[in-house]
Amino acid sequence: MKTPYQEWAGARAEGRYFVAVAWMEGSRAAGSNFRTDGRTLWSYGHVVGITDSDDRKVAYNCLYSVTTAKQVGPAKAMAHEVIRVCPSCRRTP
Ligand SMILES: [Zn+2]
Repeated sequence: MKTPYQEWAGARAEGRYFVAVAWMEGSRAAGSNFRTDGRTLWSYGHVVGITDSDDRKVAYNCLYSVTTAKQVGPAKAMAHEVIRVCPSCRRTP
């Protein structure tokens, strides 16, 4: 049984997925206004994911824009924790 992370890692070549995979792995990646330094994850300059002090990945359920919501999808699937209301924009589902 593959974990969500392993499922997405297999799809790393597909557009937005590789940035979220790099974030999980702690490496840098950027593409299509979606980027990570390995700790923080940004979509259009908006923070959509962080790494906490225990090195756990925390994704924000960001609904800032349709594109942002799509980009953060794989990050939410892989993260250790998902914050339901994005602290960056506070848009509610
Ligand atoms: Zn947001």
